[in-house]
Amino acid sequence: MGLINNSLNLTQVCGSAYNKLVLVELGGRCVMQINVAQLLKESIGSTRDYEVSGVVDVTGSGAGSMVQGEVRLMRTDRGILVKGTLHTEAEVTCSRCLAPFRHPLVLNIEEEYFPSVDVVSGAPVSVPDETGYFTIDEHHVLDLTEAVRQYALLVIPMKPLCREDCAGLCRNGGHNLNLAPCDCLPQPVDPRWAVLTKLTVNGEE
Ligand SMILES: [Zn+2]
Ligand SMILES: [Zn+2]
Repeated sequence: MGLINNSLNLTQVCGSAYNKLVLVELGGRCVMQINVAQLLKESIGSTRDYEVSGVVDVTGSGAGSMVQGEVRLMRTDRGILVKGTLHTEAEVTCSRCLAPFRHPLVLNIEEEYFPSVDVVSGAPVSVPDETGYFTIDEHHVLDLTEAVRQYALLVIPMKPLCREDCAGLCRNGGHNLNLAPCDCLPQPVDPRWAVLTKLTVNGEE
């Protein structure tokens, strides 16, 4: 089961209902694929549990991030419902001190995948008239990679902070105040800007 080519994409962990999802290297990039041909032939409500563990480029930046967790695949009347929680992280830039850091992400995935061909007859299946759904390809391979990427982008904060009390950058010297305290000489304030400076200070939370 689960062999679509020479690279293994699915193995069953002995003695348990758990399947381990192994990442496949395709064209130099890691993807998370599960062959669901068998599950598609089963009755509605049938499930398979998978353990996910591997390095994926979740943000499309070229940097790999460890993705770990569990997903349950359930046969629905229309396709396969994927539900589970995955833990990963993304390289982001602190909005206050501009330092890069790895931000942990929790992805609560719930997506229905629709088959593009009938698993028994091989005939094309019309996909639902909806946008944003995922399909299972003609080889009955369900690819989690794109869903993981989309969920990751949704949970990356708009203004990430490397830590709650990030000290930010020095207003005078521009150096990172988390690394060293400020010993810059205070800049003489142009009286014409004093009003604006006051506004900025008051505007801070
Ligand atoms: Zn910071
Ligand atoms: Zn300074």
